[in-house]
Amino acid sequence: MDNINVTRSSLPNFEDYVSEIASIWSNHWLTNMGEKHDELETQLKDFLSCKNIVLFTNGHLALEAMLRVYGIKGEVITSPYTFASTTHAITRVGAKPVFCDVKPSDLTLDESKVEALITEHTEAIMPIHVYGNICNNDALQKIAQKHNLKLLYDGAHSFAESKDGVNTANMGDATMFSFHATKVFHTIEGGAICFKDDTMREKLLLEKNFGIPNAEEVLYPGGNAKMNEFQAAMGICNLAIIHETITKRRALAEHYYQALENTNVQIFIPQANVVSNYGYMPVLFSDEAMRDKVYRHLAEKDIYARKYFYPICNEFSCYENTSAQTPIALSASRRVLCLPLYPDLSMLDADRVISTIKECVND
Ligand SMILES: *Cc1c(COP(=O)(O)O)cnc(C)c1O
Repeated sequence: MDNINVTRSSLPNFEDYVSEIASIWSNHWLTNMGEKHDELETQLKDFLSCKNIVLFTNGHLALEAMLRVYGIKGEVITSPYTFASTTHAITRVGAKPVFCDVKPSDLTLDESKVEALITEHTEAIMPIHVYGNICNNDALQKIAQKHNLKLLYDGAHSFAESKDGVNTANMGDATMFSFHATKVFHTIEGGAICFKDDTMREKLLLEKNFGIPNAEEVLYPGGNAKMNEFQAAMGICNLAIIHETITKRRALAEHYYQALENTNVQIFIPQANVVSNYGYMPVLFSDEAMRDKVYRHLAEKDIYARKYFYPICNEFSCYENTSAQTPIALSASRRVLCLPLYPDLSMLDADRVISTIKECVND
């Protein structure tokens, strides 16, 4: 039997990609905001119904650029239950991550614990939408307004997701998306910032192109984070099949939900008011020993689940360990596995994953 990995990047039809990149051989324009870049930008703006969007070569550099253009240098309240990128971006721009715990129900930032962490140095809140669970934007927006803080989202997981009809692209002051190969929608590597304040566009463009506004001037030491034409062409092809991609993921996720519903494994079914992209299939086990047992048992059968997110960011050796102050996030990281889920995973293979898990938890 073949290996089953936690994920497998989706690809458009080979012929479709080849025909999308053909024009690059006539115009020899490979990067620096070419035709494909501009076309994808327009398509995404429309797809996400957002006011403004700027594309980047990856999500992480987009996150750093976002923090820089909003001038964030002080404390940023964030959750440790995320990928390293969130905390690293805050740190790398010279700001300080302040860790707030998550809610056990959906593992997003616990809005009821944010205000206690606000100090005179707090400048922003950076919540993370995790695995299709959307943050409580209304509550976070109120807190941000009351204390005059920026609300900047790590929406890396949340492409094509909405809550109460509001797309995640339109939450807070700005939202970052990752278009990495493992994400539901990808441009091989890539990312974007969607934002409300029109004046940020110019700043984000400078940030991703060396601080160069025109052929005669250089304004400041900006970085380089431009999306190239091959990335954008991949995005155009993948956006054309996004509904199909999500429909396949949804069928598989619902199959998992049904199979695991009445076991002692905790699953996260999307809330009624949330449109999910079914990017991940996280499950929580009763304790770490059970999680690790299932993980090993799956591996013995050539099924590779992922301990994601584990360890949490405030346990990394490069940060002061404050994980005891975020017990819910810590506990989830010890008990979580993300199960294989990708558009061309067969139902039979999903059943192989399910029965292997049940062999452990029903012991
Ligand atoms: C993928 C991811 C990122 C980083 O995005 P890249 O495009 O890989 O740079 C940041 N935050 C979260 C939560 C992610 O999952």
